[in-house]
Amino acid sequence: MNAKPQYTVAVRALCEFAAKSGDLDLRFTPAPSSQEGIAGHALVASRRGADYRAELSLSGQYQGLLVRGRADGYDPGRKRLEEVKTHRVALARMPANHRALHWAQLKVYGALLCASEGLTELDLALVYFDVVSEQETVLCERHSAAELQMFFEQLCERFQGWAERELDHRAARDQALNTLRFPHADFRQGQRPLAESVYKAAVSGRCLLAQAPTGIGKTVGTIFPLLKASPGQRLDKVFFLAAKTSGRAMALEALNKISRAAPEAPPLRVLELVARDKACEHPDKACHGESCPLAQGFYERLPAARLAAVSQPSGTLLDKAALRALALQHQVCPYYLSQELVRWADVVVGDYNYFFDLSAMLHGMSQEAGWRVALLVDEAHNLVERGRKMYSAELQQAKLRALKLDAPAVLKKPLDKLQRTWAALNKEAGEAQREYAVLEALPAKLLTALQLASAAITEYMSEHPTERDVALQDFYFEALHFTRLAELFGPHSLCDWQLSSQGLAKTSSTLCIRNVLPAEFLKPRLQAAHTAVLFSATLQPFAYFADLLGLPERSAWLEVEAPFSAEQLQVRVAQQVSTRYQHRRASLPALVALMGQQFQQAPGNYLAFFSSHDYLNEAADLFEREFPAITIWRQQRRMAESAQAEFLARLTESSQGIGFVVLGGSFSEGVDLPGKRLIGAFIATLGLPQLNPVNEQIRMRLDQLLGQGYDYAYLYPGLQKVVQAAGRVIRTVSDAGVVVLMDDRYAQPEIQALLPRWWRIERPS
Ligand code: SF4
Repeated sequence: MNAKPQYTVAVRALCEFAAKSGDLDLRFTPAPSSQEGIAGHALVASRRGADYRAELSLSGQYQGLLVRGRADGYDPGRKRLEEVKTHRVALARMPANHRALHWAQLKVYGALLCASEGLTELDLALVYFDVVSEQETVLCERHSAAELQMFFEQLCERFQGWAERELDHRAARDQALNTLRFPHADFRQGQRPLAESVYKAAVSGRCLLAQAPTGIGKTVGTIFPLLKASPGQRLDKVFFLAAKTSGRAMALEALNKISRAAPEAPPLRVLELVARDKACEHPDKACHGESCPLAQGFYERLPAARLAAVSQPSGTLLDKAALRALALQHQVCPYYLSQELVRWADVVVGDYNYFFDLSAMLHGMSQEAGWRVALLVDEAHNLVERGRKMYSAELQQAKLRALKLDAPAVLKKPLDKLQRTWAALNKEAGEAQREYAVLEALPAKLLTALQLASAAITEYMSEHPTERDVALQDFYFEALHFTRLAELFGPHSLCDWQLSSQGLAKTSSTLCIRNVLPAEFLKPRLQAAHTAVLFSATLQPFAYFADLLGLPERSAWLEVEAPFSAEQLQVRVAQQVSTRYQHRRASLPALVALMGQQFQQAPGNYLAFFSSHDYLNEAADLFEREFPAITIWRQQRRMAESAQAEFLARLTESSQGIGFVVLGGSFSEGVDLPGKRLIGAFIATLGLPQLNPVNEQIRMRLDQLLGQGYDYAYLYPGLQKVVQAAGRVIRTVSDAGVVVLMDDRYAQPEIQALLPRWWRIERPS
């Protein structure tokens, strides 16, 4: 009996690991869509004889390795095994290492087939199917079973050492996680029930929506129990998904603490994923060996870099800086190294996009490899808006116009046709002198013209793979995204038309597929995970998030009580102020007076939240005139991350002043200003999204779909922003402060029902 457990590997993964060589080459090579790929395979199979065996499952063993996969088709009469690859570009342009990889896969399938059918020799045929011409190019070779077996064994030998290392790693990791200790002497108030619920959700394979206040240590309180549950649930990977860089940083800090608190650092491989533009070492170059030195010979140096990455001492996190250092040491691209390391990491920390968007890498890899994964979704209230963005697409006519001016001659015709179709749509949609219209159906003629233009650009770009026309590429990717979402169009989205500018012959518009209900797309992703924990300080009402995020039926809900006492926070409603749009100007003096009085009574650091930059500046201007002795700071439009950090650095233990900021902006959440760094907040609005045609359409669609238009489109998102902003004041059990809710509507019981239960709102005198 084999003492060691068996390691299972897919044929494709085995070949990618052991038979890939040469350069990284991500030159523009338009690939068939997945639908075209499926259709191409089906067409090839339909052209074969009746006894053709398509999608043939094969497996075989080599020592401790179980290798399995599905060959595309076998013709037993001709003893010919086929691997079908669909393509768009001329075959001559296919890099040699891609071709070599295709042969490697086919040879492995050949070895497995010979062994299972007792064949002594076999024809291997690589069938390249052109999805445009529907022509097949067949490359055929005859191999003996002995040759194929030898090839198979060579690849297995190359992988064997790695597989053993992986098995050892997983055993050591799981053992360490079983005895992992909580990184603090004790749980904070509220942290234990959170941790217990996360653990239970993992054990029962459920989704959990957990509302837990700031300051209880949510990040450690969710990562720790999930890691503890991992061995028992045979989890392959934990994905920590954050909306912002600050969320990723907190996760890495928590993982660092967890590693250091163990009697011995657990051999946990933690990987941070960062966007390509932030990880790229040569932003002026393209991702192929002829342009970028880190792409040249990438696959030759990858094995050493990969080995070094998994051989880091326990407790070392592969964050952005560590990964960069390691990649440069081995002269490989840090971004593509991080993609490779996802396969071998235990915990991956990255943006929501990596799991939830249309072409999400982590989701795709999990599906392909059959990983059992757990998700932690940080600050999950953001997923509603982020989900909508991921599944929305916009096309601007002005961009098309600009593109046409410099477009290569061969593209003029299809772009002209698109422009003409668009002009006709403008006429139709804007007939009633409208500036905004929701189209009753997708504009079929425009979509056809868009597809033709995309096909022409595809053709052009594949013939000019080294040409870098950023405007053309951007337009092309936007067009592809738009077309893809058009295929998935349904009641969950609107297709709207908006006038951007109008001139005699130059009317310009923007066409948008606007997702309203992201649940349609997010639900299957949540269901694909073994467990998912979505947590935040503002996840109420549960039904709103369950409906909009598409929480699976058996999802659990947890509300962790705040560890703070009502005595810590004075909450006042300024009933004399109305921040309704039509009353804003008139109420400014009262609003400013109230802020000045509060500051004079209790000098210190405050943040004042307004619904827009204009409103903020009007209030700040008046405040400066009325209270010139009080220091104020203003949030500027489009502040860079460094400027934001400088802004926050002004609020110190000894400073005094008021920061005028935008509600829902960079200073509304994810900002930690404990103690005297922040003693109060003024909130000069209910945070309701602006009343405009787009938001009205969203309200109507939500009303149709869920019967909750106003609450779901306006009220709940607005109040969530308010609670997030107010949450900046009390960060620890020793903080004390004041929140002034500056609008008479805060006195309404239905509004107060949406505010944290631990607040004691003072009755207006
Ligand atoms: S360093 Fe930049 S240009 Fe080079 S391969 Fe990586 S991402 Fe591409």
